[in-house]
Amino acid sequence: MKIIDLKNIKKTYHLEKLDIPVLHGIDLEIEQGEFVAIMGHSGSGKSTLLNILGLLDKPSEGSYKLADVEVSHYSDNELAALRNYYLGFIFQQFNLLSKLTILENVALPTIYSSKNGMHEDSVKLLNMVGLSDRLNHRPNEISGGQQQRVAIARSLINKPLIIFADEPSGNLDTKSTKEIINILKNLNDSGITIIMVTHEPDLTTYATRIITVQDGLIISNKKTVEKTNNSKKQTATFKHKTFSFTRIKDYFVEAIRALKSNKTRSILSILGVMIGVASLIAVLAVGMGAKKSVQELVASLGSNILMVSAGAPKRGGISIEADSYMGFKVEDIYDLKRNVAGIKVVVGYATGRAQVVANGRNYNTILEGVSPDYADLKNSHPSRGRFFTETENIEKKKVVLLGKTVINEIYGDENFNPIGEYIKINRIDFQVIGVLPVKGSSGWRDEDDKVTMPLNTALQRVLGTVYLNYMDVQVRDDADMDEVSESIITRLLFTHRMPASQRDAIKVWNMVEIQETMSQTTRAFSLLLGSIAFISLLVGGIGIMNIMFVSVSERTKEIGLRKAIGANNADILFQFIIESIFVCCIGGFVGIIFGSIASLIISKFAGWSTVITPFSIVLAFCFSGFTGLIFGVWPAKKASKLSPIEALRYD
Ligand code: ADP
Ligand code: MG
Repeated sequence: MKIIDLKNIKKTYHLEKLDIPVLHGIDLEIEQGEFVAIMGHSGSGKSTLLNILGLLDKPSEGSYKLADVEVSHYSDNELAALRNYYLGFIFQQFNLLSKLTILENVALPTIYSSKNGMHEDSVKLLNMVGLSDRLNHRPNEISGGQQQRVAIARSLINKPLIIFADEPSGNLDTKSTKEIINILKNLNDSGITIIMVTHEPDLTTYATRIITVQDGLIISNKKTVEKTNNSKKQTATFKHKTFSFTRIKDYFVEAIRALKSNKTRSILSILGVMIGVASLIAVLAVGMGAKKSVQELVASLGSNILMVSAGAPKRGGISIEADSYMGFKVEDIYDLKRNVAGIKVVVGYATGRAQVVANGRNYNTILEGVSPDYADLKNSHPSRGRFFTETENIEKKKVVLLGKTVINEIYGDENFNPIGEYIKINRIDFQVIGVLPVKGSSGWRDEDDKVTMPLNTALQRVLGTVYLNYMDVQVRDDADMDEVSESIITRLLFTHRMPASQRDAIKVWNMVEIQETMSQTTRAFSLLLGSIAFISLLVGGIGIMNIMFVSVSERTKEIGLRKAIGANNADILFQFIIESIFVCCIGGFVGIIFGSIASLIISKFAGWSTVITPFSIVLAFCFSGFTGLIFGVWPAKKASKLSPIEALRYD
């Protein structure tokens, strides 16, 4: 049966300005089971013809029937499948992949066919070519003749109909040449069609037909042996590949192998992505931490609270000097409560530094003088002892409540019970009546590092001033915050005899407003940091792309070989994309670890609260995989589009 039927095949190479016609109209019929030797001078077009016959290259013109099927207009992927199922190749340069073992090299074509479990077959074939003791060696550990025998075993793994060999002994010594030609003869005897290019007449001993090519034409075509041909009819049909997990697994194995074989480069590209992901994680942690502390702060303050503070009034944006400074006094507390509708509680604050002396120790902390309603308003009831009363406030009693940190500093034990102890605050004797509830640290400051005493005591006995720092106003549930806020300003301007033009001297903060302002600030901050993280991820991605391009051009020959033995465009595309995604995911993984460590360090040393959520981890990981996809596509596409024969020829 006719296995190959060429009619008027022409091939012209198109260079930039030049057309080089190489084949000028080849007609050729080859029967199944023949051993064809193609001879001719160098440059006569032998390889060009063989590449067209082997479906590695397409003719410019003419008809090619392979096993009765016209294939000259087949797509790249269809040709790849045909090569994989029906054709085997042996090249002058062997073209083994140096990173794979000999056994893996032989099994390579099976990655691209739907056949599985070819391990045994590979071993059998290596046994047949006499290399069963070298299965796990690398190609560079064996001789040229042995490498070519591996290549023969590889060409046989998918049980081809035809084997193409382009000067298979061109790089070999006489002894190896003999071995190779004997193997080819045995294969031919077993029914496989062999088409071999050579210019050594010695090699044609076993050929059943010798074809001579000269200047792109067949000038002689002699049958030396009449082959009896009783093989059954074959048609070149093939299955389109179906998706399978084993294939994905194979891509992964290939990707890992590629990464391992270039460790420094892999580590550098992982590093690029790692930095991006780590900063992303840290930024998310800081941003979420800031948001959380704002929320906690506001929750601790209460949403129905207005903060009233006095500042120097402004005219045209410029602060007026201190003579018109408006200070609140204790009377304002009672006046507001009495005269402004909708107010439930007013708490005044006077703060300063306190030098606490007791138990032979000395400690500087924050002093806070507050109205007795403070405990209710702030839900800050003592964990031990009691809060002071209104009477104690009016009578300026020297009583004090201590925060946990202060107790620890003075008594060396935060669980010490100081109730009833006498301590000196700024040289004045105080009696401890309670312990403040533990608040922890809010963002930047330790809330437990303070002492709290009656407002009047603080003002008149310790601080020596009449002015409050600010007031908190709790609004009744049925009152409108804005209205109350307006009434407070009006009332204060009235009692302080100030014109309406100076209303800027009084600031009334709504806690919800404060929350909004703060979250706006944190949001802007997060956005800024986030864009820095994004840019570093982008830079990492471009690094990946760069390295993938290097990898593609370095492995062009490998890509050519893979395509020759049946990889289609998608196989190559996926192999490189998966490699790139894989690098990025490793970078992502390491980055998440480093980013988390960085967040911990930030919260430990800078005192910012940071929050790492599963969401930010998943987000960062997806982002890194996505980076791999985005920046891997272009190089992978470039790799997948290479023509097999041009890639094989690449140096
Ligand atoms: P052979 O194998 O008989 O030595 P080839 O088939 O490799 O010869 O080449 C035949 C001619 O075609 C040569 O003149 C060569 O320069 C030319 N040729 C081969 N490949 C290309 C190519 N990719 N681009 C341009 N010219 C080519
Ligand atoms: Mg050649």
